[in-house]
Amino acid sequence: MRRILGKVIALGAAMAVLAAACGGGAQPQASASAAATATAATKPKFELATYMYSIQTKGKIRVGTREDNVPFGLKNPTTGKYEGFDIDIVREFTKAIFGKDADADPDKFIEFVPVVSATRIPTLNDNKADIVAATFTINDERLKQIDFSTVYFRTGQKILVKKTTTNINAVADLNGKTVCTAKGSTSEQNITKQAKDAKLLLLDTYPPCLLALQQGQADAVSTDETILFGLVKQDPTTKIVGGYFSDEPYGIGVNKGREGFVPFLNSVIAAMVADGRWAAIYKKYITPVSGDVKDGPHDKGRPAS
Ligand code: GLU
Repeated sequence: MRRILGKVIALGAAMAVLAAACGGGAQPQASASAAATATAATKPKFELATYMYSIQTKGKIRVGTREDNVPFGLKNPTTGKYEGFDIDIVREFTKAIFGKDADADPDKFIEFVPVVSATRIPTLNDNKADIVAATFTINDERLKQIDFSTVYFRTGQKILVKKTTTNINAVADLNGKTVCTAKGSTSEQNITKQAKDAKLLLLDTYPPCLLALQQGQADAVSTDETILFGLVKQDPTTKIVGGYFSDEPYGIGVNKGREGFVPFLNSVIAAMVADGRWAAIYKKYITPVSGDVKDGPHDKGRPAS
């Protein structure tokens, strides 16, 4: 009961923030275009100066995301459809911008822009995407170049080795070993700082790192635990070892100067957590690889029954 009450209060607060971000909700916009007026019944109203209004007017949201990062962002090779935790979170943003028209098939309003770890910031700075949703850790260095939403997922860095490996059990054991990770990731930075004598094999994405481990070109792969869960699922002859040696709070990346956009994204994230959509997306994509369930990014989680 206390949890339900907490959710109701949080939902109320989230809706208040959303209403504020949408310009007070009920006020009609004086100079909305004819097209916007025609579909006014189905589309949320935004202040003309806001970035949400400009996306709505363009008719598409451009989303920088991964194509091979299970369980967060995958372009399914069989169906050609995008799937994963980050993708479903983005679909909720899309519905919040385009309203009922997007309910049945939000992808009609999304233009996916493939990114890898190192291209996330340039993709935003070069205005090739409106948002980047791609296991993107919020940190001070990145905040100098782009803005981030509030935390919508939280994990930490760990190590993946072959099940037969016995001499790597903590980050210090990576010294003298070849460790594969993605170029331009916080994973790269964390290894550089915490295992100075590790030899880094830097690739664009994580599945090629798994291949390098399988073929003996790397002794270990290291990145965020939830990404490693996806790799273990792909190759059960591997295992995750040691504890977390970093904190990786994910945010939605946005170029600087996008009027009203970050508060809007934050309000949708809060609403998704409050009304259970976040938990449902977690259960759909993360539970099958992690074995736990969570109600929100700050929930420590419990075993899935
Ligand atoms: N979350 C980390 C980062 O933002 C590592 C995972 C990734 O490369 O996406 O760099």
